[in-house]
Amino acid sequence: MKSLVTGGAGFIGSHLAERLLEKGDEVIVLDNLSTGRLENVSHLQGRDDFELRLDTILDEAVVRRAVADSDRIFHLAAAVGVKFIIDNPLESIEVNVQGTENILHAANQDKKPVFLASTSEVYGKNENVPFREDDDRVLGSTTISRWSYSCTKALDEFLALAFWREKRLPVVIGRFFNTVGPRQTGRYGMVIPRFVKQALLGRDLTVHGTGEQTRAFMDVKDAVSAILALMENDDCFGQVFNVGGEKRISIKRLAETIKKKVGSDSEIKYIPYEEAYEEGFEDMIHRAPDISKINEYTGFKPENDTSAILDRVIDYFRSNEELI
Ligand code: UDP
Repeated sequence: MKSLVTGGAGFIGSHLAERLLEKGDEVIVLDNLSTGRLENVSHLQGRDDFELRLDTILDEAVVRRAVADSDRIFHLAAAVGVKFIIDNPLESIEVNVQGTENILHAANQDKKPVFLASTSEVYGKNENVPFREDDDRVLGSTTISRWSYSCTKALDEFLALAFWREKRLPVVIGRFFNTVGPRQTGRYGMVIPRFVKQALLGRDLTVHGTGEQTRAFMDVKDAVSAILALMENDDCFGQVFNVGGEKRISIKRLAETIKKKVGSDSEIKYIPYEEAYEEGFEDMIHRAPDISKINEYTGFKPENDTSAILDRVIDYFRSNEELI
């Protein structure tokens, strides 16, 4: 089996590429390194069963070739991270919409199976946690950049579902909730690598708002298991699945826990959202998935709790000091 991983030099993509190689697949990674890093896959380069193509999913010919050279596609290339989206709204929209269109059109030529990575951002500021796949989406104004992310990924989902319904392209959608692990960078806003770095450096831990907002975190190892389980069950095609951890923790508690685990004397500092992001920024108060659907279809349940995830991330930064 030859698997194409778009965004394979990124955080989740590189872990997926590794797991596919372990399973005996050949892997092609297509990545333009916009938020991915060469270092995430440099240990795989030189293997006969691994190929890295440094190029963009916005180039139709590149996508057509990569898809033609593969048996199945894991489409993870996208603009991600709340901060990245706000800082790069145009690039984010183009990559997420046009890029996915290119992938789906190319895959449809020979009906090659596609896994489409989506996001819990599609639920918007719905407050009824945990979210079920068929819940309503609650979004803010178009003048607030954050919501463009939700819309672009929702459009990706609509497109994928339309390709399934009209063309019978086998495509399955995973909506990722907060996923964490080694190689995730805090540069684009993600809270855990940011807090861990701040704690290791003895700097203030920057909690946004009151810190009462909650999130449920999932280890990237579990995310990869979920992706494979979804792609390996034909009943999942044409459907949307939440992929995430179940147990919520407040951001304030998260900061306190990280500070304690690191043994840091950093202070916890509260920063208004407008200062952290942009004027009018809206956060979602609580976010957590109902994962009964994926569990029912595949038996998937995350195996790592928040404490184990934090230990792994802290170890990672401690043994890669250059990244701090
Ligand atoms: N957050 C924070 N300090 C930071 C980065 C993020 O308090 O330095 C908060 C952020 O406002 C949000 C939560 O942590 O309420 C999770 O943020 P992240 O960007 O990791 O994920 P998302 O908002 O997409 O769930």
